[in-house]
Amino acid sequence: MKRSGTVLVTLLLLIAMALPVLSACEKAPVTTAPGGTPTAASEWTIKANQEATMGLDFSSEQDFADAQRGFIATLPDGVIKNDDGSTAFSTADFDFEKQEEAPSTVNPILWRQARLNLYNGLFKVTDRIYQIRSFDLSNMTIVEGDSKIIVIDPMSTPATARAGLDLYYQQRGQKPVAAVIYTHSHLDHFGGVKGVISEEDVANGVQVIASEGFFDYAISENVMAGTAMSRRAQYMYGMYLPRNDRAMVDEGLGKAEPIGPATIIAPTKEIKTTGETLTIDGVEMVFQIVSGTEAPTEMTIYFPQFRAFDSAEIACPLVHNLLTLRGAQVRDANKWANCINEAIELYGDKTDVLFAQHNWPRWGKEQIITFLEQQRDLYKYTHDQTLRLLNEGYTPVEIAETIKLPESLASQWYCRNYYGTLKHNVEAVYQKYLGFYDGNPANLDPLPPVEASKKYVDYMGGPEAVIAMAKKDFDKGEYRWVVQVMNNVVFAYPDNQEARDLEAAAMEQLGYQAESGPWRNSYLVGASELRSGLGQQPDAIRTGADMIKGMTMPMCFDIMGILLNGPKAEGKHIVINWDLTDTGEKYVLNLQNSALTYTSGKLSDKADVTLTLKRATLNSVLIGATTFQKEYAAKNITIDGSTVKLLELMGMMDSFSPSFNIVTP
Ligand SMILES: [Zn+2]
Repeated sequence: MKRSGTVLVTLLLLIAMALPVLSACEKAPVTTAPGGTPTAASEWTIKANQEATMGLDFSSEQDFADAQRGFIATLPDGVIKNDDGSTAFSTADFDFEKQEEAPSTVNPILWRQARLNLYNGLFKVTDRIYQIRSFDLSNMTIVEGDSKIIVIDPMSTPATARAGLDLYYQQRGQKPVAAVIYTHSHLDHFGGVKGVISEEDVANGVQVIASEGFFDYAISENVMAGTAMSRRAQYMYGMYLPRNDRAMVDEGLGKAEPIGPATIIAPTKEIKTTGETLTIDGVEMVFQIVSGTEAPTEMTIYFPQFRAFDSAEIACPLVHNLLTLRGAQVRDANKWANCINEAIELYGDKTDVLFAQHNWPRWGKEQIITFLEQQRDLYKYTHDQTLRLLNEGYTPVEIAETIKLPESLASQWYCRNYYGTLKHNVEAVYQKYLGFYDGNPANLDPLPPVEASKKYVDYMGGPEAVIAMAKKDFDKGEYRWVVQVMNNVVFAYPDNQEARDLEAAAMEQLGYQAESGPWRNSYLVGASELRSGLGQQPDAIRTGADMIKGMTMPMCFDIMGILLNGPKAEGKHIVINWDLTDTGEKYVLNLQNSALTYTSGKLSDKADVTLTLKRATLNSVLIGATTFQKEYAAKNITIDGSTVKLLELMGMMDSFSPSFNIVTP
């Protein structure tokens, strides 16, 4: 029986291991880049970056005035520490961006946004509304009630949220928190909640408010494909890149990700419909449900007393993602545009200030309406023109290559591609309606990358011939093509360092030219891994204890199903009862036809083995607060039946690691 204990703990640990922390933010320690030496900007990159600025008004100071407006104070040294003494965030890391002129290695449009995201600390938005900005990827908003405060979106980590709240208290006086509101289910909007309130505060009456379905989405949105998302997020966020003008400079949506564990406290009240109102400590709020746009569950908040509108994350001064590069389910651009239009109708003529969960606010009724109209039309145009072109027979790559925003939008700083891009958003719209297949049977069943690359390179006369030609194109600044063709050489001959270095050099120039922070990061991480491999991968930081406790048993079973190696399970039939005595939950887990399914609400009398334990015990084991062996010895877990079957199931589970190859086979 002792052996089966080890088996189960391993199984449970596998579940925990399959769950990297993910959402808008991914957590991992920043280390030095895996290696390689960044080069200077080429003459082509310098030229491209100059041309990129055409039609844009660099003399306009409005955004800089708005980003600094109402500044009260910031941290003296800019460093925010976690409880264990490690650095969660350092505003000082980005001091190199104080220089106004863009370095030749950064797109000037992205550089301008990076400099706007540089203003950090406590800001007054309007009477009784304050924001903490650039202590995190996201903002924290503090609304002053009659005698208490309401915190909207406590950022990504307890450390950054706590530092923000302390700064507010120093400047505005200590007041208890009456309520925390989450605008949506992405981690950078709730992960820091325990830096602001505790479970005990909630038991004592502090309210936690979110839109319907918040808790399940917050936990589940990134569980199924979590490990792959985590690896891809390393590219998108560039968290292992150094911070300098040849590496990571900004995320566009905000300065950078803090590093630390995420927390969550479940809502005590859910908002279900647009128009619902709530008054907390004398502050009146009207909610608009915008779920299924930027996040699966999301709401905006209007404050009639202050003529202020919190647009959550549906209207930030940038092109947002219809599909994030780290990977997620595609978002609905049409619905997004409709929700912004509804906000204009509901609040446009009674709003003097608009603020959001990222970047800086905007003041003045006319400016706000124009901003919202242009944000609306940005998503509507992207949606409709993609559908027009796909209905005319164009494929995703062709649409991305030809589509341009109308001048009225493209000339606006707040419609630029700092985070999402028009190019990848049109591919997202295509994917939403038509999926992966472009309709050309030549692309229906292609050879996989390695096999196809060997053929291509062979047909082209071998790697030396391809490299020689690609070098000429590199010298002409044709970096997109060089990356494309050298990718074939690298996949055919991964040990050819000359090919890898040439592809890296081309990716690097594309990174220097990118208007989008995530595009820049992706190219620069790709370049680094081509030059020197993955290097020492930091240990992935796993899902925080709060998130594991929040997982339902069906989520745990789904993860076990994903870990199951189908071919190894060929011909096996195993049935396991799960009897959770504290929650009263009962499940039958069934392995059959290499697929793991479950039935809830009963136990099977034909089960091979029955596990009886408390959900609370399972949580403690999953988060590492105790061990299975201890709980088993203390008789908090019982196992009845065939340990052999349990061992067998255990032997069929894969383990995931977010360190698989991307730019090499
Ligand atoms: Zn966000």
